[in-house]
Amino acid sequence: MKVTEHIKNAKGKTLFSFEIVPPQKGQNIQKLYDNVAPLMEFKPPFIDVTTSREEHVYIKKDGGLLERKVTRMRPGTVGICASLMHKFKVDTVPHVLCGGFTKEETEYVLVDCHYLGIDNVMALRGDAMKDESYFIPKNEGNHYASDLVKQISELNKGIYLHDIIESTYKADFCIGVAGYPEKHMESPSMQADLRRLKQKVDAGAEYVVTQMFFDNQKYFAFVEAAKEIGINVPIIPGIKPIAVQRHLSVLPQVFSLDLPDALVSAVEKCKNNVEIRQVGVEWAIQQSKELVAAGVPVLHYYSMGKSDNIKKIASTVF
Ligand code: FAD
Repeated sequence: MKVTEHIKNAKGKTLFSFEIVPPQKGQNIQKLYDNVAPLMEFKPPFIDVTTSREEHVYIKKDGGLLERKVTRMRPGTVGICASLMHKFKVDTVPHVLCGGFTKEETEYVLVDCHYLGIDNVMALRGDAMKDESYFIPKNEGNHYASDLVKQISELNKGIYLHDIIESTYKADFCIGVAGYPEKHMESPSMQADLRRLKQKVDAGAEYVVTQMFFDNQKYFAFVEAAKEIGINVPIIPGIKPIAVQRHLSVLPQVFSLDLPDALVSAVEKCKNNVEIRQVGVEWAIQQSKELVAAGVPVLHYYSMGKSDNIKKIASTVF
């Protein structure tokens, strides 16, 4: 079922959902199942599965030379979506990226999703590769998420690349896109970023999931500003509980966001990561309760592969 249908059927009740990251290749998928299983009691209508950018690896050759290869360390997004649907009878949302894919390759991914009965896809540009200072699309690939949304919308109309086939059966993907309550790091201004978000919605996106934020006022202001420029699709807040000391520096650096001083001080007082994990849980509970009271359609948690803290939060909030 489409994410938008789940929201409609919930009749104003806030739903619980979460995002998982595929395991590194070479690892067992069982660990992923073991982290998903405890969260199923909160009846997530859908689970998101991320797609990782490819990266450069360097292989030592005879004579000390290094050979550079490109590889994707966490493949398997669509396969994991299919296996979760099968195992847990839940809808899944694969993340589809512009970065690293030609439009042709994207079409194949979408055809696979269609055949598997996946009803939703999250359309994202992806970040720059680790050793690139800015995002470079693949030759013949989509540059911005709005281009990818256009490609998916065309497919929904039965229009494939090159226009060489006559289709009799259309895909009907519900398309999600990313939104940034604290502005995307590359955007020159909040308003410019919102206009880009509107382009994605105008191209066919039916819901937005936000980047993590730690101050609900930022989310409320973002939703208000989005409405003002005519974005009328559901905006699902993304919540990430702080889990380790390192998050204090990594999250602002990687996601270009602010952490409230009360949260920073609470983390700084902790003696170890067990205490920090607890502070993260308590902060996320407080955030979640306020968001539920404000009537948000879904609370979407970034689980980062470990579900114990998400379970603690969900047990209190849902
Ligand atoms: P876009 O919407 O294309 O925007 C990127 C930047 O370009 C913005 O600054 C925007 O303002 C600007 N822009 C947009 N259109 C134009 C235009 N026509 N001309 C000039 N500027 C323009 N990354 C992954 O690699 N894998 C994932 O699975 C993943 N999942 C995510 C899930 C969520 C909910 C979120 C919020 C992010 C996720 N990301 C993921 C990260 C995301 O890929 C990055 O934040 C990326 O830098 C931007 O992606 P986007 O889809 O928002 O890009």
